[in-house]
Formats: sequence, C-alpha cells, structure tokens
Amino acid sequence: MERTTAFLDIPAATFLPGLIQRAAEMEMAVADTPRGKAVELYYGTLEVIDTGPRTRVELVSSDAARLLNLRDTLTWHLDQVGLKHCITWAKMKAGANPANLALGHVVWVSEISPNFTRVRLAGDYTRFLEGGFHFRLLLGPKELGWPSTDDTGGTVWPGGLAAWNRPVYTVRDICPEGRWIDFDVFRHEGGRANDWIITLEMGEEVGITGPGGTGHVSAPWVGLFGDETALPAVLRMIRGAPDGTQGEAVLLVPTEADIQRVDVPEGITLRWLCREKGDVLMDAFRDLRLPEGPRYVFYAGEKTEVAEAREHAAAIGLKRGEAHTLVYWTAD
Ligand SMILES: Cc1cc2nc3c(=O)[nH]c(=O)nc-3n(C[C@H](O)[C@H](O)[C@H](O)COP(=O)(O)OP(=O)(O)OC[C@H]3O[C@@H](n4cnc5c(N)ncnc54)[C@H](O)[C@@H]3O)c2cc1C
Repeated sequence: MERTTAFLDIPAATFLPGLIQRAAEMEMAVADTPRGKAVELYYGTLEVIDTGPRTRVELVSSDAARLLNLRDTLTWHLDQVGLKHCITWAKMKAGANPANLALGHVVWVSEISPNFTRVRLAGDYTRFLEGGFHFRLLLGPKELGWPSTDDTGGTVWPGGLAAWNRPVYTVRDICPEGRWIDFDVFRHEGGRANDWIITLEMGEEVGITGPGGTGHVSAPWVGLFGDETALPAVLRMIRGAPDGTQGEAVLLVPTEADIQRVDVPEGITLRWLCREKGDVLMDAFRDLRLPEGPRYVFYAGEKTEVAEAREHAAAIGLKRGEAHTLVYWTAD
C-alpha cells in the first residue's frame, strides 16, 4: 500500500458533502472510521479527518501510480468546487519521475487501414496488464525533459502543464509480459495527435501516464457501442469477456476498408457500421433488444451523441451501474 497526506485549510464540513455526493454518483462507498469518513474512489481511499478549522486527508492506494491518480482526483475535485488553493501536501523526496509515468520507444508504426495508424511502444508496461485500459499520451516540450515530482510528490510539468497536450488513448494490445503496448490512433483532421504521428520517428522516446479508466466487462450480457475512438476499448472488452458472455457489439468506422478482422467469442455478435454509407451509431443503440436480468451497456463517442445515448439508456430502464455512456471526444 502507498500513502500520502493532504492538509486542507478548511473544515471538513465545507467540502465533505460534495465529495460524498461525487462518490455516490460513481457508486463508491462511504464509511465511518474512528477518525472521520473514508470515501472509496476508483484509485483508492480518502480518509477525511476533521481537525477543527483544518482537515487532514489520508490517501491510500494499492500502488504509487494509482496513488498519484488518486491525488489528481482530489485536486480535480477541489478545483471543481473552487477550493484548490486550500490544499497543502505532506513533504516527500523530490526529483523522481511521477509514479504513473511510463517511458518507452517507438518500435513499430503501421497504417493499418485508411484512417487508423497503429503504434507499438517498447518499455516496461507491466503496470498496464491490469486495471483500466487507458492512458494519456504526453505531447509537449519534451526537449525540456519529462515530468518530475516536487517535494510533495506532485507532478512538475516542464514549461507548465498548459504546454502539454495529453489526449487519452487505449491500450489496444499488450505483450503478456508487459514489454510492449500497441495503440490505434484514429487519424482525423486538425488532431494534434495526428500531427504527432506524421513526424513520429522510429526509436523516438514517448511518455505516457496511466493506466486509468474503464476496463474489462463482467456482466453475462453486454451491449457495446463505439465510434472510431472507442473501437480499441470495445475490441478489448470483447476479447477479455469471460467465457459464456452473450451480447452485441456495434462499431462505427469511416469506410469499409477500416473494418478490422478480429476474433469474436461465440456468444457475442460484432456488427460494423460505416459513415460513408450514412450509418449512425445511435440508431443501432435505439434498435437494441435489451434482455432482462444482469446486463451491461457501454456507449462511447462524440459528446452530443453520448448525451443522447445517456437519455436513451435511462429511457429504456438501464439503471446506474448497468450503463456507461462516455464522452471520448468533442466536436467543435
Ligand atoms: C477513455 C478514452 C479513450 C480513448 N481512446 C482512443 C483511442 O484508442 N484511439 C483514438 O484515436 N482516440 C481515442 N480517444 C479519443 C481521443 O482522446 C480524442 O479524439 C482526442 O481529442 C485526440 O486528441 P488530439 O490532441 O489529437 O485532438 P485535439 O487536438 O484535442 O482536437 C483537435 C480537433 O480534432 C477534433 N477531434 C477530436 N477527436 C476527433 C474525432 N474522433 N473525430 C473527428 N474530430 C475529432 C476536435 O474537435 C478538434 O477540433 C479516447 C478518448 C477517451 C476519453
């Protein structure tokens, strides 16, 4: 277990209700402890201890990378409620790379279809064998160096955080020993990752942070819907589904030539839609025949469509925990 401590210059009552509400939205548990409240979040536990005008928050995670993500989650939450300035972190040793950073080298780049490029990075990715499928690609002034940690364990971004574009990508495939990962970049106009791919060189050093986000599915019946950006996530969910999983998956790609040949387990049907034919992902979700009993629906894509999907999921009676509707990108 890894731990760190945050001190907040505010009473617990000022921010705890919002934090508890956030935990409830994510269906995470809140428990009473002898010292205060323990709030379970995706990356670990926050124990909130009321010490009068100040609050002490103990953060505990299973490993250092998750602890850093948990720390970022708390900072993000405080920022959302305008309280980020109230936080001071306990001192630690400075200078190391952040625990959630993984450095690797480009060993293979291939245009696997007209609109997708696959990149293979070689390095130590053992951490990515478990947990969420996703990572942030660090595109920024790396000539200034990779991020390091300050004397509280926080991340120091060379040139400032704003100088870094950190789009989220999905580990499409990982070597069983964690020595390489593949990810598929959907090539779209104006994308900064698109520009990065164009200039990418063999052997180039690449930094990513993670893992995070959603991972394998475990319901006996699944309905999985994704556009180009969620294609890697859906295909990994299908491949990793436990034996006997039943369900349907629908993926939207620009052209027929972008359809990937993949093995699909017997109980799951995979259907491909093409934008060039006028297919619409949301139509497929509307046509879905939802079974009774334990089930799970995943829908990821563009923000406006995801809002529609979220409404539709509620309208057809999917409860919290039965559906994840996730924004993977935002159209201008
Ligand atoms: C959990 C998660 C996993 C993801 N996994 C993948 C993945 O494996 N592969 C992948 O390709 N993407 C993936 N994405 C989507 C990717 O993060 C976004 O497309 C991101 O905007 C790309 O960053 P960028 O810096 O290239 O684009 P930006 O510089 O942020 O955007 C530039 C312009 O491109 C537009 N744009 C962004 N995405 C798209 C798009 N898909 N189609 C058309 N226009 C777009 C924006 O509206 C903007 O105008 C994932 C996103 C999430 C949240």
